Amino acid sequence: MDIGHILERSVMKQRENLKKVNTMTIQPKQASFIVNCDSCSDYLEVDSTDFKDVLKEMKFHNWKTFKKDDEWVNQCPVCGEG
Ligand SMILES: [Zn+2]
Repeated sequence: MDIGHILERSVMKQRENLKKVNTMTIQPKQASFIVNCDSCSDYLEVDSTDFKDVLKEMKFHNWKTFKKDDEWVNQCPVCGEG
């Protein structure tokens, strides 16, 4: 089995576990949070582990987060438009 496959599976497993704990696709990364856009590969890095700061930063940078079919969706300013 090649390393790409193993890495992919490990990332998918991590995502599954994260989804169980936190339905939003916000991943802890040391002292910062990465918010991934669900529509493109853009992301927002917030230098805080405080969820309130993350939401504040998302708002400040015109990111949108909303619930769709019981799943939280994050969108960057570009994808959130229109
Ligand atoms: Zn986007």
